[in-house]
Amino acid sequence: MKILCRCSGRHSPPKAGGYVGFANPLGGAQTSTICGNPSCDNPALVWMDDDAAAAYMKGQRVFAGPNNFTKVKVDNAGVIPINQFQPQP
Ligand SMILES: [Zn+2]
Repeated sequence: MKILCRCSGRHSPPKAGGYVGFANPLGGAQTSTICGNPSCDNPALVWMDDDAAAAYMKGQRVFAGPNNFTKVKVDNAGVIPINQFQPQP
């Protein structure tokens, strides 16, 4: 299960890693979930691979990254498929 937090601007969608869609972080634009790109401090979307999206469908809303630094919580609006992603300016 993999997630990746990237802003809705130039750092989405992820070009590799098998991410199939994203969920919005709890708090929307006021979230403390920030794009993981080192040069960016914008709010992030939570990109999910197949396993994470399946867990979401079963009710999971809290997701861990690749280490134990933190976890992120997403809202209940669903996983938006990658082909429906609309870049923000
Ligand atoms: Zn970014």
